[in-house]
Amino acid sequence: MGRVEELSSSLSRYAHLLGFPVNVEWVRLVEELQERIMEDVRGEAGGYESLRSFVVALESRGYIAKAMEEVSKALNDEVENAEKALKAAITGDIEVRGARVALIVLQAVARAYAEEALKRGVTVETSALCPLCGALSETMFKEKGGYKMVCHFCSYTWLVSEGKPMCPYCGNQDELSIAVVSDKQMRVALMKCWNCNSTWRTIIDETIETPLILKPLIAMAAEKLRPALGEIERLVETRRKRS
Ligand SMILES: [Zn+2]
Ligand SMILES: [Zn+2]
Repeated sequence: MGRVEELSSSLSRYAHLLGFPVNVEWVRLVEELQERIMEDVRGEAGGYESLRSFVVALESRGYIAKAMEEVSKALNDEVENAEKALKAAITGDIEVRGARVALIVLQAVARAYAEEALKRGVTVETSALCPLCGALSETMFKEKGGYKMVCHFCSYTWLVSEGKPMCPYCGNQDELSIAVVSDKQMRVALMKCWNCNSTWRTIIDETIETPLILKPLIAMAAEKLRPALGEIERLVETRRKRS
C-alpha cells in the first residue's frame, strides 16, 4: 500500500471516533503534495545537523520556492510574496496570503527530516516540546508498553516513559497525581497532571495503528472526555478544601 492510501484508509477506519467530520479528500490531497516533496528531499535529510540548517540549504538553492509554486498551483492558492509567506508560516500567522502553502511545504520538509532522524532510533525525552522542530505536542500514544509523544508538525516521536505514563510537561511520575480518563473501550484517554495542571490526549489502545501524522488528529477523540475530567477536577477540589 502506498503512503497516501495508507493514510486515507486509516483515516476512514478511525474518523468515526472523533465525533466531528474530517475532510478526507483534503487530507489526501495535502498528503499527495507533501509526499512528492518528501520524495525529493528525503535522500539528503540525514546529512544535516539540524532541521533549520536543512531548510536553509533547501531555501538557498531555490528548492523551497519551487515547491511552493507547485503546491500553490495544485491548491489554486496564490502566493504573492514567497518570502513573506514563509515568514508568516514560521510565526504561525496563517492569515497572510500564501502562508498555508508555505506551511505545507515546510511541514513536508520537516517530516522528511524527522523520518530520517527516526531511522537512527528513538530518543528518550521528558518533554512536550519536539526535540527536532520545537513545536509543542499535546499528543501521546502507547506503543509496546511505552508512552510516546508525537509532534503535531513534523511527526517526530520520542519516548517519555515505559510501563506507566509520566507527565511530559513537568516530569511528574507519581501515578496518583496523574488523572487518566478514558472511554469505555479504552481507546483514547485524556490525561491530567495535578502537579503542573497540564492536560494531554493519549491513544491508549495499541491496536489503533495509524501513520504518525494522523495520531494527533485521532487523539482528538479524547476531547469528548473533557467534561468527565472536569467532574474529577471538581471532586478533587472539594476534597482538598475539606482536608
Ligand atoms: Zn517536530
Ligand atoms: Zn506535570
